Amino acid sequence: MMTFSNFNFANEQKVAVMYDERFLLHNTGPSHPENPERLISVISDLKANQKISSKIIWPNFKVATFDELNLVHTNEYIELVDHQVSQLKNNRAYLSTGDTPISKHSNDVAKLAVGAGLEAVDLIMAGEISSAFALVRPPGHHATASRGMGFCIYNNIAIVARYLQKKYDLKRILIVDFDVHHGNGTQDIFYEDDSVFYFSIHQHPFYPGTGRPDETGTGKGKGYTLNIDLPAGSGDDDLIKGLRDQLKPAMDQFKPDFVIVSAGFDAYEGDILGELSYTSNGYKKAAMILNDITKQYSNGRIIYMLEGGYTPENIKNATTSILDVLITN
Ligand SMILES: [Zn+2]
Repeated sequence: MMTFSNFNFANEQKVAVMYDERFLLHNTGPSHPENPERLISVISDLKANQKISSKIIWPNFKVATFDELNLVHTNEYIELVDHQVSQLKNNRAYLSTGDTPISKHSNDVAKLAVGAGLEAVDLIMAGEISSAFALVRPPGHHATASRGMGFCIYNNIAIVARYLQKKYDLKRILIVDFDVHHGNGTQDIFYEDDSVFYFSIHQHPFYPGTGRPDETGTGKGKGYTLNIDLPAGSGDDDLIKGLRDQLKPAMDQFKPDFVIVSAGFDAYEGDILGELSYTSNGYKKAAMILNDITKQYSNGRIIYMLEGGYTPENIKNATTSILDVLITN
């Protein structure tokens, strides 16, 4: 029965922040840029921010199951991660498939990062929240179906896309990726797919080297991948132009049922790895454009998941700018 109180609740724009302290247990070593400090600063800031904290909830969530990982990743790869992490005691190593550090809790933490996205989906689809921001690590967008690389173990955002399709029968999913690096893993997973549209705006030339504008998909996926590459030094105007002039018209054709965002903040000015110069104002404007797309086509449904970003102060500022948009729109 619809009561006055839950009517109000539905209009309050409750936003979930998906975070678990166990994300800090993925130990990448003392000098690795993908480290727990990335999350510590943003979380303590959000908890102290009265304007935001009155509008957000902090749900619990579980580690993703084998079957959930298997929506994207091959049996062999999931078993490879299980095996290589279980061999470690208190030492660290690199995943044999790429430049991803692993330590004894890394597999559980990576599965928990996926689980954060899946729980956010369930809460949105149940109408309990309007949107979510998953502050997770490790990141995911460089992981292909069979290969972890670029600090990534499982492709969090890709699994969320497949979960939306399998559990909720949604037909068209948009993935927006504004990390400074091209999400080669996400592109590869959906390259022949016309049900998941992958949009990336990133620095070029830069790691991992993919993501040129002529990479547009193949087979029935032709036209469902859209890459914009930007020279070092590009800023907010380039980000906004890409979203407004290229993504928006493409979405007027595609009409996504749900939008998920690979939110990397290593394109923020002054990042220790990236060489673009977005600011908090740029991320805010970007969030407003994405909100317009979700309002028009996907009933406001949007999940942001953290990817890269290696200067904790920037992660804090950009996340706050985006959450400001989510709680007020
Ligand atoms: Zn990145």
